[in-house]
Amino acid sequence: MRRKLVVGNWKMNGSRTSNAVLLSEIVAGLAASGAASAVCVPAPYLAQCQAQLAGSALGWGAQDVSAHASGAYTGEISAAMLQDFGCSYVVIGHSERRAYHGESDAQVAAKTVAALAAGITPIVCIGETLAQREAGQTNAVVAQQLGAVLAAIGGDDVAKLVLAYEPVWAIGTGKTATPQMAQDVHQELRGQLVAKNAVAAAGVQILYGGSMKPENAKELMAMPDIDGGLIGGAALKAADFLAIIHAA
Ligand code: PGA
Repeated sequence: MRRKLVVGNWKMNGSRTSNAVLLSEIVAGLAASGAASAVCVPAPYLAQCQAQLAGSALGWGAQDVSAHASGAYTGEISAAMLQDFGCSYVVIGHSERRAYHGESDAQVAAKTVAALAAGITPIVCIGETLAQREAGQTNAVVAQQLGAVLAAIGGDDVAKLVLAYEPVWAIGTGKTATPQMAQDVHQELRGQLVAKNAVAAAGVQILYGGSMKPENAKELMAMPDIDGGLIGGAALKAADFLAIIHAA
């Protein structure tokens, strides 16, 4: 019922030359995939994506957005600017931004509101650290992170969200949550969405992220509440990214 979605998070990687090759290889290999797919690239390359991907089946987006509409916010990029460059998606609240840039749940919620107002699908990232998991706090942590976002949006907006469950200890480490561990959290998150808008919750794509690769993608995405992936390292190689899309 929910279409699978596979999104590459390029993080701070790429160059105009290498991007051109990677994007054309991905587009060439996409044919006949039933899953939706997109790449979230560093902001300077959004124009390149717009020029190269318009009309293709590969969507594109950014990795962050300002909560503010315009004005004296040096260095920030507004949702309207992302819209200007044809973005369908924006990653919000990635654990690297929460950890290295001090992004709070309140800021993540405000950025989500800004993206929704511009008609861009927010991919809201949620996840616990290893210490939190070992302390048995996983469900409480993810509930608080999602709760802040749900408190800031209207019930009708639930249908416009994408969530990404990314356990911090699995990102870039080669350690993946087992399909059951991920499913358990995805089910919790869906339950929380149901409480806000039961009808919309059934349609929300909840992606898994954290060392997803061709070897483990299929079994993760076979779980009932895992609707795709947010892919870091494996999104930088066309063959790996395509293998994950085709596994979806
Ligand atoms: P990874 O990153 O696939 O390299 O673990 C995922 C992410 O941070 O979105």
